[in-house]
Amino acid sequence: MTRTVYVNGEYLPETEAKVSIFDRAFLMADGVYEVTSVLGGKLIDFDGHAKRLKRSLSELDIREPLTTEDLLAIHRELVARNGIEDGLVYLQITRGSPGDRDFAFPDPETCAPTVVLFTQNKPGLADSPSARTGIKVISIEDIRWGRRDIKTVQLLYPSMGKMMAKKAGCDDAWMVEDGAVTEGTSNNAYIVKGGKIITRNLSSDILHGITRAAVLRFAREAQMEVEERPFTIDEAKAADEAFVTSASAFVTPVVEIDGSAIGTGTPGRVAQRLREIYLDESRKAGV
Ligand code: PMP
Repeated sequence: MTRTVYVNGEYLPETEAKVSIFDRAFLMADGVYEVTSVLGGKLIDFDGHAKRLKRSLSELDIREPLTTEDLLAIHRELVARNGIEDGLVYLQITRGSPGDRDFAFPDPETCAPTVVLFTQNKPGLADSPSARTGIKVISIEDIRWGRRDIKTVQLLYPSMGKMMAKKAGCDDAWMVEDGAVTEGTSNNAYIVKGGKIITRNLSSDILHGITRAAVLRFAREAQMEVEERPFTIDEAKAADEAFVTSASAFVTPVVEIDGSAIGTGTPGRVAQRLREIYLDESRKAGV
């Protein structure tokens, strides 16, 4: 099926959508993105994603090309036009195309940001096999740049990390810096020990996950203890459970790290409970 996508004010068949070869994101990875999940035709955590998008743009001095209301309307229009029940909406905003290549930023008065959105249809997104079986991760060195709190489209290393995991017969990689886990290639990382949920504190070392914020809020509301601090791979191996969160994986249990089973080697109770709460609450609050 040919998708309808959005490019700079127009809804077009995906085969007709075009972006300049001089676009700053194409040449310099000079752009930011968001991924919002859709469940039962409703957008999950849209406000959180819109807020983080604003912050990413502002940190990079890229002009906000559209209001949050406009963005919501475009998201909804794409979900409707593409008949998405369960899936994702991908949004990317770049510094635009100055019509040539230059390291210096173009004049924002004459170079408008590029805005692209498209949907991904994922029937049964909330009922994925990996949520039932849990995933296996390897650890790799975190060699990304130092502003991981900005959601840029520089995804080469996370992409290489996924391939390293695949090669090792695993599903994902947890990145480690100065002996402590930062995050997964496309998710935030957690361990559970003695009923306490441990996840790295927010800083420029990690992306401030929208799912992370919601899950920690629900955990605290359910009287679960949360500790935000760095943890090591050895601690993870000795944990009772582990899990990851992201907009597309929600809460997904981790059952093995570097070949060592975590706890019983099956999805843990805390992860399963948080997944249920997150999905229930988010569906209710979907827009
Ligand atoms: N960390 C990284 C590096 C990611 O790419 C993602 C997913 N975009 C996350 C964490 C999770 O963020 P969110 O819950 O907002 O999807």
